[in-house]
Amino acid sequence: AVARAEEGTHPFGLFFVDLDRFKQINDTLGHGVGDALLLEVAQRLRQTLRAGDAIARLGGDEFVVLVEELRSDRHAEAVAQKILQAISKPFAIPGYELRVTASVGISRHGRDGSDGQTLMKHADIAMYQAKGAGKNSFAFYSPADDDNSIARLELESALRCALEHGELELHYQPKLDLRDGRIRGMEALLRWPSPGLGMVSPQQFIPVAEETGLIVPLGKWALRQACLQNMAWQAQGLAGLTVAVNLSPRQFSDADLLGDIVSILHETGMDGRQLELEITESAIMQDAEAGRRLLRSLKSIGVRIAIDDFGTGYSSLSTLKQFPIDTLKIDRSFIADLASDPEDRGLTEAILQMARTLKLHVVAEGVENAVQQTFLRERGCDEVQGFLFSKPLAADAFAAFVQR
Ligand code: C2E
Ligand code: CA
Ligand code: CA
Ligand code: CA
Repeated sequence: AVARAEEGTHPFGLFFVDLDRFKQINDTLGHGVGDALLLEVAQRLRQTLRAGDAIARLGGDEFVVLVEELRSDRHAEAVAQKILQAISKPFAIPGYELRVTASVGISRHGRDGSDGQTLMKHADIAMYQAKGAGKNSFAFYSPADDDNSIARLELESALRCALEHGELELHYQPKLDLRDGRIRGMEALLRWPSPGLGMVSPQQFIPVAEETGLIVPLGKWALRQACLQNMAWQAQGLAGLTVAVNLSPRQFSDADLLGDIVSILHETGMDGRQLELEITESAIMQDAEAGRRLLRSLKSIGVRIAIDDFGTGYSSLSTLKQFPIDTLKIDRSFIADLASDPEDRGLTEAILQMARTLKLHVVAEGVENAVQQTFLRERGCDEVQGFLFSKPLAADAFAAFVQR
């Protein structure tokens, strides 16, 4: 089809169509339903497009459509819209009415490549761009995204290997009680000292892990590791410390999360009351009802819940009140400018005051100097965490720090 299209008078385009969340449907409802859905999608595409347009299934839930005589970008946009609309109409699969959306990436012959292989690769990159922009959308290939995507793809496969080969580590940053200066617990933070790439920052690899779904096994590893380490410390006499583990939005909406946590606690012998989960408000609000249910179940096994990066999201404390949370972590962007920015001071004060009314525990993160510490102590902040006390430490160094 590509060879034939190359003989045409107008440039042709490739449309890379990938279903969003197909894997979830396939996993929950079974392959039979998944396969039936893919067939229906193929038929829907066939009915929607012109007879001359070639449609191929690449395997999985990916399709490629070749549209000949693509006259303009407007024309390409119209085709992409038509594809998205066709797929978003419900599918009647015996026993189910399924709704799916898709992401479409577009590459244009001539502009985005001159051979089929390059055009395929570029349509694929554009598709990831569309997925990143939100589901049920399309994107044209742009070379700027290319470097990005290739770097991301490389990072993704390196991260996959790192997880398999045990390259990842957890470091622990102490959290101190502001009243007596004692260490109450720690936050576990992932570190990736990669033999090939050097030290890769979580700021770089967590978003990639989140986008690709790798965060689910990665986060599970971190949870187990944090519990194992806490148990090891207890055996050494460091008892009564709470370990806080970060949960990404993707993990929070993962159906297996609760079961995974229950079995990790069981396996490691850790008391659920010594585990705290740090979650952002937006992760909880993705689906408030499901979020509430999950938080309740976590509470019922004793696990504590902290709202991470508090103050940066949009929900008010009164919204949060409806969720069974224990702790607020004031985002470090507010703490950073406490000395110089009256607005940040006011906000921090207001958060501390409301938290007291709601009987929530408050932790300030990113405390770097004594001015911040004093301000926080005077206004009743419970715990602090930051470079003023310690950076995140490897497990041995953490134990030494506590016993100093
Ligand atoms: P976060 O949850 O907000 O973690 C706090 C970050 O602030 C950490 O960065 C920590 O090293 C840094 N920090 C601590 N004290 C100070 C300070 O006094 N000043 C400044 N400027 N920074 C301070 P890190 O370790 O680079 O982690 C970055 C982000 O990556 C974390 O932000 C968290 O969102 C994510 N992350 C790290 N580990 C995990 C993990 O195991 N799972 C998930 N889902 N996310 C993780
Ligand atoms: Ca997919
Ligand atoms: Ca955190
Ligand atoms: Ca934070």
